[in-house]
Amino acid sequence: MPYVSHQIRLACRPTGAPKPENFRSEEHTVREPGDGEVLLRTMYLSLDPYMRGRMSAAKSYAKSLEIGDVIMGGTVSEVIESRSVGLEPGQIVLGQGGWQSYSTERASELRVLDPDQAPVTTALGVLGMPGFTAYSGLLAIGDPQPGETVAVAAATGPVGSAVGQIAKIKGCRAIGIAGGPKKVAYLDELGFDAALDHRDDDLAGRLAEAAPDGIDVYFENVGGAVFDAVVPRLNLYARVPVCGLAATYNSTEAESGPDRLPELMGLVLRKSLTLRGFIQNEFRPSMFDDFLTDMSGWVRSGQLKYREDITDGLENAPEVFAGMLAGANFGKTIIKVGES
Ligand code: NDP
Repeated sequence: MPYVSHQIRLACRPTGAPKPENFRSEEHTVREPGDGEVLLRTMYLSLDPYMRGRMSAAKSYAKSLEIGDVIMGGTVSEVIESRSVGLEPGQIVLGQGGWQSYSTERASELRVLDPDQAPVTTALGVLGMPGFTAYSGLLAIGDPQPGETVAVAAATGPVGSAVGQIAKIKGCRAIGIAGGPKKVAYLDELGFDAALDHRDDDLAGRLAEAAPDGIDVYFENVGGAVFDAVVPRLNLYARVPVCGLAATYNSTEAESGPDRLPELMGLVLRKSLTLRGFIQNEFRPSMFDDFLTDMSGWVRSGQLKYREDITDGLENAPEVFAGMLAGANFGKTIIKVGES
């Protein structure tokens, strides 16, 4: 029987923060699955900062969306019809269904989820791409050693909260930076050794107090003013996994002010700093299995906590997405699309 998918498509490219007019809703009959494909009903959609980059035409590590495309996105879905041996109706899978209520996907690109092992939404957050980003970037590039100090911003989000807690598990001192008193209080609950508000007028001063011995690993999630405050505190041989620059994703022009690049390069030289960008896919082949084992164990034992921010209704995705970029989310941002 034909299924109608409610879809959200890119109507025009955002300038600055995404607005409702950048998106449009449409309804389309879902394509019947061919050999090796399955028809899926979306249960949960992941909203992630990288989607802002795909809405732009600027050259990046992945192809931009075209105007009129369904917005891409990780999804947890129920199998409705299957033309693939090994997948049956009723099973729950992780896929890339995007911002729509039904999708047809290749079975070989799906991961079957076991709801008895962990809540299925965790496959979009702590046990999925953001959790893996934290694990791989911190361990492979940050190389945190016991007794060292690790700092991270966007520290209550799915990447940052995992970075800080993994740093603690590895015997480090963890400093979290987040926006607003509620988020800062939550960092205490997560076991961070120090929690700072990036809206504090004297962030640099607070950081100096919180890291009297300097910072050995700065996991870069945001850039902007937080980066400026952190750089002078970096120790000799400090490592900076450059994961994301959330403070700049909606920027329309370069920041004004003096050129700080010569000063930064001077510090890189004198302190033998390592700044290394990465896209999590790079580490999937070598680290994903270890990640699933370690992270599931830490979540089960309560050593690593996570928080999800779930909103009902696909129609709310544009507004919730724009809010997330501005820090309105509190935990992993997820849209509940259909009944679980
Ligand atoms: P979050 O859920 O943490 O959402 C982004 C957060 O960025 C906001 O909640 C806000 O937190 C913070 N933020 C926004 N503007 C500013 C600002 N001006 N200064 C400081 N903080 C700001 O996102 P994720 O955990 O999903 O992702 C974190 C980062 O990791 C992002 O940059 C993302 O692009 C990147 N990423 C990179 C990947 C890779 O492979 N390299 C893969 C996945 C994610 P607050 O309210 O605390 O300020």
